[in-house]
Amino acid sequence: MSTDFDDLVIGAGMAGLAVAGLLAREGRRVLVLEAHDVPGGYAHTFSVGKYRFCAQVHYIFGCGEGETVNGLLERLGIADQVPFVRLDPEGFDHVVVGGERFRVPNGLAKHRDRLIRRFPEHREPLVRYFHEVAAVAEELDLLPKQITPLVALRSAHRHLRLLRYLKWTLADFYDHVGMPPLLRGVLAGQSGDYLLPPRDVSFLLHVALVSGYDKGAFYPRDHFFHFVESIAEVIRSSPGCRLLLEHEVARIHVERGNVTGVTTAGGQTFTARRYVSNVDPQLTARLAGERWFEKDTRRLDYEYSYGTLTLYLAVRGIDLREHGFGSFNVWHYPHADIDRLYDDQLLRHDLSNPWLFLSTPTLHSGAPGLCPPDEQILEVATVMDHDRFARLRREDRRAYNREKKAIVAGVLDIIESRYVPELRRHLSVRVAGTPATNARFCRAPLGNSYGAALVPANMRPGRGPYRSAVENLWLANATAGFPSVAGAIGAGVRLYEDLAAR
Ligand SMILES: Cc1cc2nc3c(=O)[nH]c(=O)nc-3n(C[C@H](O)[C@H](O)[C@H](O)COP(=O)(O)OP(=O)(O)OC[C@H]3O[C@@H](n4cnc5c(N)ncnc54)[C@H](O)[C@@H]3O)c2cc1C
Repeated sequence: MSTDFDDLVIGAGMAGLAVAGLLAREGRRVLVLEAHDVPGGYAHTFSVGKYRFCAQVHYIFGCGEGETVNGLLERLGIADQVPFVRLDPEGFDHVVVGGERFRVPNGLAKHRDRLIRRFPEHREPLVRYFHEVAAVAEELDLLPKQITPLVALRSAHRHLRLLRYLKWTLADFYDHVGMPPLLRGVLAGQSGDYLLPPRDVSFLLHVALVSGYDKGAFYPRDHFFHFVESIAEVIRSSPGCRLLLEHEVARIHVERGNVTGVTTAGGQTFTARRYVSNVDPQLTARLAGERWFEKDTRRLDYEYSYGTLTLYLAVRGIDLREHGFGSFNVWHYPHADIDRLYDDQLLRHDLSNPWLFLSTPTLHSGAPGLCPPDEQILEVATVMDHDRFARLRREDRRAYNREKKAIVAGVLDIIESRYVPELRRHLSVRVAGTPATNARFCRAPLGNSYGAALVPANMRPGRGPYRSAVENLWLANATAGFPSVAGAIGAGVRLYEDLAAR
């Protein structure tokens, strides 16, 4: 059969760009169809006048030599072009709980020793926590890329902790080691990176996140738009390849268990030999017709992760370094009970005293490109319920806007009282995004942030990119893989290796 392309990738998120870039470098004719008007998915950058904001990504792991992101850039031949800067190794995340600040350094032993010095009475649970985190991280690093039943059987003895903790939440582990309340909050200080409280998050996922950043927290020196564009350019400049923006795939046509083509919302049809979906697996199944995916039922059975409220701010006339910001992120928690904060924000819809993530990209890298030289960018995020706000937006747009405004005002009040007095007087840009915004611009179902919720039930052995029940359709993204830029790129690279071996 004659086809337009060798490989067709639906979606230019990080997993889609990674697999498409590698296939393009191999000399295959690759077409990428992206619904939005910029590539990158959650890592895309949007402009507001002379200001640029990365939609969601703030810092990434996996950028050290030989690690996932670096490995991709090397293989694409652009590693020198896309250098990274490291956030402060003495404290790349600052966790502020009830006003007390804790710096998270690179080096688990250093982090442990600092906390023991501060809380000598809690030495024992701290020693046990850090010992197990390091041991589990080591087992995660040794995990084989492809876990078939035979591989699992043969390597099980090297992964006893992974098997033991497979169904544990972080709170289960805290209970096990007798972690006291304040330290439960402090050690889950990066919980916004998986958007779940200790009660719900998979312990293994928590370890993967903590140990990923422990090896180094990075930011692209020339900002995320340059990072994404550099990968996109590899595709665009490869012979026979195309990356088409504003081309939303509205239908994946399947005949006799094979994809025969895709049609865009604009009515164009494209064909290829193989198809890769970087789109959420449940959504992909709906685009193709769910009846074809009966064999994938288990894989398609998941709840989504939560959505966020994000504030994109530009400030002038002040230096955020004088207000507790720098080459690190700040995690603000009004108190240490993160479970209760999630209940307040998601069940009781009470965002009057939320936890906050505050990030300052212009202090992570001094390279120009985000705002005028005498201004700085501050991005703020917290968890927020999708359903309620989507309903409100649908049914009563004025009430939705009113409520959004009130929540934003509350967040600004907290920042003014705790960090930057009179912040409002210095704002040159103030834009707010809700889970509905994520659904609209990133096509994330229910505004989800990290694909499938990162609970133990979704940490199945063998989680990763896969060939679907439809013969020539593969999936790679945050859910068919792992979330985060490094996780999604890892999924794209693994899928490429799988495809290249065919
Ligand atoms: C608030 C927030 C903060 C985050 N912070 C960080 C961070 O600091 N560091 C980090 O590493 N990660 C972070 N992440 C997570 C990270 O951004 C994602 O896990 C990762 O980028 C997901 O990549 P993906 O390949 O799954 O694709 P996605 O980003 O989901 O992109 C999918 C792409 O497919 C396109 N698409 C969807 N449907 C169609 C269709 N029908 N036709 C054509 N195109 C379609 C979409 O427009 C989109 O471009 C954050 C996420 C959120 C929400």
